[in-house]
Amino acid sequence: MPLVSMRQLLDEAAKGGYGVGAFNVNDMEQIQAIMGAAKETNSPVVIQASRGARAFAQDRYLFHLILAAAELNPEIPIAMHQDHGNSFETCKSAIELGYTSVMMDGSLKEDGKTPATFEENVAVTKKVVDFAHERGVTVEGEIGVLGGVEDGHGAGGTGLEHITDPDQAVEFAELTGVDALAIAIGTSHGAYKFTKKPDGSVLKMDVLIAIHKRLPNTHLVMHGSSSVPKDLQDVINEYGGKLKETWGVPVEEIQLGIRNGVRKINVDTDNRLAMTGAIRKVLWTQPEKFDPRDYMKPAREAMQKVVALRMKQFGQAGHAGDYKPIAITEIAKGYKDGSLVTKPLVAAR
Ligand SMILES: [Zn+2]
Repeated sequence: MPLVSMRQLLDEAAKGGYGVGAFNVNDMEQIQAIMGAAKETNSPVVIQASRGARAFAQDRYLFHLILAAAELNPEIPIAMHQDHGNSFETCKSAIELGYTSVMMDGSLKEDGKTPATFEENVAVTKKVVDFAHERGVTVEGEIGVLGGVEDGHGAGGTGLEHITDPDQAVEFAELTGVDALAIAIGTSHGAYKFTKKPDGSVLKMDVLIAIHKRLPNTHLVMHGSSSVPKDLQDVINEYGGKLKETWGVPVEEIQLGIRNGVRKINVDTDNRLAMTGAIRKVLWTQPEKFDPRDYMKPAREAMQKVVALRMKQFGQAGHAGDYKPIAITEIAKGYKDGSLVTKPLVAAR
């Protein structure tokens, strides 16, 4: 299957009432792990690359690896997404390369660290929306600021400093015409999200529900949504690792989100933990090994297992064959003639 528009993928998820995992990639093994899981569970999927990933792997390597994934798995809808674009230029370069979706994270200034004003966020996001929609490419925006730092991107903090204001979310969606909206509800990037199992004082599911009530047709996105399961932490620490005890976002909270408009769930840390644990185990228990395949194969398998589990938990499993891909050029026409609505439906308070 050719790469599909993320808008189509999320519209279908909304129709089906499920969420779609968006998994970060930096290399071939991670892409293979995701595709193995998608095939195993018959799931549509979002494969995403951060700026850090694009720099690490080099653009064209990563792009062609993802194209290979699409070629080898014609039955799986795949959207290729730029995660946390920091500027118009970053998003433009991804679109010109062939990404079918971009995130313009205008919640931060171009340095990827300093919170931007609402007006700055609207201006840069709108500019990306105009450029992207003309080419049939999907745009995710962000309102509110997430906690933590990942790949050098992030404002730091606990994630409670800049919780999304529902009124501002409505205004932002109306002014920019984004297809999907990332909101800040207390989640953070990275492994160290919460110092205990999160409750309502640190994970603001009530804010998410309030935003969904106001914007019932806008696809909401949960960032920093790894669950950081204890068993994955344990494998790392059992074989010489030194992770401090930490908690992620419980799967039940993500499922509550999915019942309330969340269509895209970003997961990276869980996969990193799974791979690192598997590699540590091989190197620790079989120190005579030196062929990278001896540890990369179990690493790939460990990641596939986590991804497949999330695909089942998010509900995307079984939905790969529900629809035919719409060509990106047709999607572009849809934005132009208004058949693909970009102004959100806003419900009365
Ligand atoms: Zn993120």
